Amino acid sequence: MNIEKVKLLIIGSGPAGYTVAIYASRAGLNPVLYQGDQPGGQLTITTDVENYPGYVNGVQGPQMMIDFQKQAERFGTEVRSGYVTSVDFSKKPFKIIVDKKINLEADSVIISTGASAKWLGIPSEERLNGKGVSACAVCDGFFYKNQDVAIVGGGDTAAEEALFLSRICKKIYMLVRSNKLRASKIMQKRIKEKHNIEILWNTETDEILGKDEVEAVRIINNKTDEKREIPIKGFFVAIGHKPNTSIFKDQLDMDEAGYLKVKLGTTKTNIEGVFACGDVQDKVYRQAVTAAGSGCMAALDAERFLG
Ligand code: NDP
Repeated sequence: MNIEKVKLLIIGSGPAGYTVAIYASRAGLNPVLYQGDQPGGQLTITTDVENYPGYVNGVQGPQMMIDFQKQAERFGTEVRSGYVTSVDFSKKPFKIIVDKKINLEADSVIISTGASAKWLGIPSEERLNGKGVSACAVCDGFFYKNQDVAIVGGGDTAAEEALFLSRICKKIYMLVRSNKLRASKIMQKRIKEKHNIEILWNTETDEILGKDEVEAVRIINNKTDEKREIPIKGFFVAIGHKPNTSIFKDQLDMDEAGYLKVKLGTTKTNIEGVFACGDVQDKVYRQAVTAAGSGCMAALDAERFLG
């Protein structure tokens, strides 16, 4: 069996993974990065990014990730396409299999596999994605300044995003499928105090309407089966995220939602030499800039470990 030896393996190619790569390659660690099944990560499904420092006029999400990749490659990171299908962290060197056929042994591994937004799974949501449909109010809310929007979900994410939108948009319809919010009490209080947020209880999305961009949403009351259309420009889905951690199950400590646990103030997992950064270990901030920041931390933690 052909086994390739790698000093530092980076799994994932979002802002966290590429930032690890920039720092680690400049530190002479010869990192190898596998991009996964969505090269560039979640930013490749957004449009304008206007809140990443340094891009004065904003940048398109996909372009930003090309820039990150080029910067990592400039210092010698080997960026490869491929999906890590299994890992064995039970002893060192760590064993990793890519695409079920490439065998690697790594002295250190940094996990930056991110998280994926959950979607409703209706056809119009996919068709209008990026044309008014978004899973990130902080990223895209600004495009609907002084306009009416809807947000689906009743958890802390939806509450936080609805509050964010309430400062920008004219009216926010919060579509909640049950008769209660799952969000924390303090968030519920804040939501209810906002005059421009209207909660529609027992409400599900039947279809998002619009030819080339979102024009309205058809909602259905799941108690009465009554349907109605609300004109909106933006449709936000905030029904939770799923960290991409299934291959690490039973090997790394995770919380109940599957997010990797790291030692406070570091990127260290429960296995010495395995580090985690970006959204895979962060369910609170989830921004490109925070992911990149934690990628820098992971590279420095790995450098110290390898040294
Ligand atoms: P949650 O799982 O807490 O909430 C998901 C919400 O989406 C629920 O209201 C749920 O409804 C609804 N939902 C799920 N699936 C569908 C669907 N198919 N159609 C319509 N509605 C749906 O996810 P969050 O992302 O809000 O939060 C995840 C975790 O992160 C929580 O522990 C939260 O407290 C934490 N968090 C903390 C923050 C902070 O501290 N600042 C910020 C954001 C999140 P239902 O209740 O009916 O299941």
